[in-house]
This record gives sequence, C-alpha cells and structure tokens, in this order.
Amino acid sequence: MIKAIVLQPGTKNLRLADWKEPIIQKESEIKAKVLRVGICGTDREEASGGRADSPPGEKELVIGHEMLGQVVEIGKKVTRFKVGDFVVITVRRGCGACAPCHLNRSDMCLTGNYTERGIKGAHGFHSHFVVDDESFALKIPPEIAEIGVLTEPMSVVQKAIEEAGLIQKSRLPSLQNSPNWLQGKKVLVAGLGPIGLLACLVLRLKGATLFGLDIISPDSPRAKILTAIGGTYINDRTITPEKFRKDHPDLSLIFDAAGIAKLDFDLIDLLGINGVFVLTGVPGDQRLVSVDGAKLMRQMVLRNQVMLGSVNESIHHFELGIKDLQSAFHKWPGVVEKLITQRYPYTDFQKALTTHTADEIKVVIEWN
Ligand code: BGC
Repeated sequence: MIKAIVLQPGTKNLRLADWKEPIIQKESEIKAKVLRVGICGTDREEASGGRADSPPGEKELVIGHEMLGQVVEIGKKVTRFKVGDFVVITVRRGCGACAPCHLNRSDMCLTGNYTERGIKGAHGFHSHFVVDDESFALKIPPEIAEIGVLTEPMSVVQKAIEEAGLIQKSRLPSLQNSPNWLQGKKVLVAGLGPIGLLACLVLRLKGATLFGLDIISPDSPRAKILTAIGGTYINDRTITPEKFRKDHPDLSLIFDAAGIAKLDFDLIDLLGINGVFVLTGVPGDQRLVSVDGAKLMRQMVLRNQVMLGSVNESIHHFELGIKDLQSAFHKWPGVVEKLITQRYPYTDFQKALTTHTADEIKVVIEWN
C-alpha cells in the first residue's frame, strides 16, 4: 500500500488514504515515483467542494495534476525513458470520439467527454507512485528538475500565447512573415500568480515589452520577479486605466491570469487596435458584473479586437514549456526557482491546500 490524497468530489472531505500501488500493465507504460506535485486554483476549488469527478464507479478521486516524478520502472516497449529519468505526465485524456481527440488534441475536445487526471474522471498524482503510457509523459532535463514541477502550468501558458499568436499572424498581414510576432510588442499580464508570472517569463523570452498588473506591494516577491526579468509593475490600485491607455495606446496582447470578471471587463478598455485578449483564469462564483455591452461591442468592432479563452494544453505545449523553463533558468539565474515559495510534506496536505501566506506564489507538496 502507498499513500494518496483523496477527495470525495463535491465535498470538502479530503483524506490521506492507504492506496493500492499502481503497477505497469501494458508494455508501453512507465512507473514513476512522485517527487512533488504543485497546487493551483483548480485543486483548491476541488478541495472546497467544487468542480471534481471521481472515475466511473468510484466514490473518491486522487487529486493533483501538476507533477514531477522520477522513472522507477519501464514496460518492455518503452523507448523514450529509462529508469532514473525525471518525468512529467500530462493531464487530459481524449474522449476517443471527436476529431481533435483523434488528432491528439484532447485540449480541444468537442464532446466534453475527456478525462483529466486529478480533476475529472481519472485519478491524479498526489500519491507515492503513478503509472501511465509513455505517450503521455515528457522527459525533464536534470538541470531543471528543481523547477520541473512548473511544467504543467507552463504548458497552459504556452497554449494561450501560441493561440493568440496563431490568430494574430493569420489575420494581420504585417505579422505574416514575422518569426516572432511578440518581439518589441507591448503586452500586459493581469494577475501575478504562478500562471501570470510564467506568462511574464515567456513573453519576455519572446522580446515583448512587458507590463504586469496586480494589487500587491511593489516590494512583494511577485512584483520583484517581474522587475528582475525586465517587466514594469503596474499597481491596479494606484494607476487609472485612462492614464495607462494614454501612455500606452498600443497594447498588442492582454494575458488574463487573474480570472476576475470585473477586472477583465475593465481591462478590455486598455487593449490596442488589432489587439488580442486571452483568458486563462477560471473564475469561481463571483459577484455579478455589469457591463456597458454596446460600448464594449463598439470598441471591439471598431478596434478589430479578439478575445479568446484557452484551457489545458497538448504535448506540444508541454515541450515548448520545458524549453522555455530551461531558457528562463539560464537567462535569469535564480529567478524561476523563486516561483516555488512553499513546500509542504504530504502529511501536511490540508495546510497546503487551505492556507495562504502573503508571499506565496507556487505551493508544492513533497512526496519524496
Ligand atoms: C489545469 C488544466 C485543466 C484545467 C481545467 C487547470 O487547472 O491546469 O490542465 O485542463 O484546469 O480542468
């Protein structure tokens, strides 16, 4: 028996359970020892009785979807892994029925019948060992093993930025031949939590002129990470949208990582002509927002603007994410590591999921 953090979906009943150790059943599977698992808003939502589903026929769900592990055993037909490799396993599994899932793009599943490890209908990674097919696993270079647990959130960021770029490049003639549409462009990231800061890293790697918006003190670690990579911190409490728009009428991209409806509808005002606004935050229930719909539509039409939502990621986005984690790790020594602010042993899972400290960025649970 091993230990696992299990939830009764739809309740706050979380427990550290004795769990059956998974074994390799197919020749293409790998078994990994879980080293650590990151916690994000989705996990907290699940733990507070929100969105989560156990596998069919079961009452409980092993939570956790942002993992880093180390391979301990491989099936006979595994070609890409050997024992000892650092590994990250992806989250979503396709429905098997729609075109995107057939094309290995379950992140674009049309039926909604996908499963997500640790979230929807499939057990996650908060346990001592996990098994999966090698086709859902990615190797993490040893030099970034310390930050490898950030790969899944980083892949969410990669998809959102890639989608924004695909749209912009296909509709704006001036960008069609540009190898990097973000070079020198002004961008704003709203919400400097883990997703927001990872987006900041990626956008700076792509040469964008970066603004990061939040309501934290400029001396807080999150604002300092932003400035350490060359971004400018904007305190939403002290700057007016009118002033920002006057100084920077040419914002090409707004990346939402806050998931706050009121904030995002306010921010649309700041988007420049032909700009794109990409949403990644998944809001829980929030107070009703009133919007001047006609003004909003007028602006979006007259300024050729796009707003798009982006969820999950494909293997390709994991690959891009690993590359960018590595580039950021070398470009800004010591900075990416600072994103992991809290490490709790698995026995302290309740604390990890429910407490918040002022300086917190990414909380991880240690399984090793
Ligand atoms: C995860 C995604 C997942 C999404 C929706 C996010 O927290 O990072 O992989 O698709 O939640 O469940």
